[in-house]
Amino acid sequence: MKDHYGRTIDYMRISITDRCNLQCRYCMPHKIPHLPKEHLLTYEEIQFICQIAADIGITKLKITGGEPLIRSGCPQLIGKLKTIPEITQVTMTTNGINLEQHLHELKENGLDAVNISLDTLNPQVYQQITGKDQLPKVQNAIIQSIKAGLPVKLNTVLQTGINENEWPQLIKLTQQYPIDIRFIEMMPIGYGKQYSPVSNTQLLQQIQAMYPELQKEQSIHGNGPAVYYKIPEAKGSIGFISAIHGKFCQTCNRLRLSAHGSLKPCLCYEDQVDLIEPLRTCKGKQREYQIKEKILQAINQKPKEHHFTQSAQITETKPMVQIGG
Ligand code: SAM
Ligand code: SF4
Repeated sequence: MKDHYGRTIDYMRISITDRCNLQCRYCMPHKIPHLPKEHLLTYEEIQFICQIAADIGITKLKITGGEPLIRSGCPQLIGKLKTIPEITQVTMTTNGINLEQHLHELKENGLDAVNISLDTLNPQVYQQITGKDQLPKVQNAIIQSIKAGLPVKLNTVLQTGINENEWPQLIKLTQQYPIDIRFIEMMPIGYGKQYSPVSNTQLLQQIQAMYPELQKEQSIHGNGPAVYYKIPEAKGSIGFISAIHGKFCQTCNRLRLSAHGSLKPCLCYEDQVDLIEPLRTCKGKQREYQIKEKILQAINQKPKEHHFTQSAQITETKPMVQIGG
């Protein structure tokens, strides 16, 4: 399905919970009120929406949160979504805390790949960023996922004055393990507004200075806008997701489904299309028709671009934990 600007929309991120077991300083630094349980989309409702989205042209799904692995039945939901014939890939973004305990079930249910968020290799800095002393658990989950044969990508957000100098150790992981690491520029969404992003342009220059033989990669690594490089002979690659210093709106391919059943056309703006009302009030063919219309409406409402550099134009006020990244 093409949007108004000729972009193919084939990817949907699905937040299955607004709760989390960490408190990352740029995402959910303190406890905030959660959705009442009855406002959460049920797994049946998520499947129903995904089936209709697949009919319209969505082929790739990403399960996110909050922290997706704290909602029970997440692996089984993935199994159900994998049965939709048009869906070619179901992946997940997790902080990794509960990953090892669910690894077997996730593999059994057909999870295609996992993104694990990891901003630091220093236990004190990890605690400073996430509020919890859980780094070894995440590191172990990364190793176990690789051993289980699951493709792994790490998501890293660098913050000035906190972990901005950790990139040399982090990129070494790509030499040690068959994993990609992607540096995501901090976006001015929610608590992220309080921090200035570490520029990926400058980061790339620093990496090139350390590794003059760094090679740009042409192959496609995922569903997103990351640009990849590789240290020669490394097992994995280094990606850059540069929402601020490398705007990629012209290739944006995604919709975001919130845990309470709204479709969000763009991260920058508060606009959303509510699915919960037709989902819960309509029946049979009418339910199908209404949900299809709402998905098409969200695609048609996708703006040409974000305006993250003009703060007055950012209308989204929710924290990232309620959006899903
Ligand atoms: N809890 C899961 C996790 O941490 O991977 C999934 C949800 S989390 C919101 C998804 C991703 O969004 C994480 O990699 C996180 O680092 C990133 N994120 C959160 N706030 C951000 C911000 N303001 N700018 C850029 N990335 C952000
Ligand atoms: Fe939780 Fe992920 Fe947000 Fe951290 S980034 S608080 S792990 S939802």
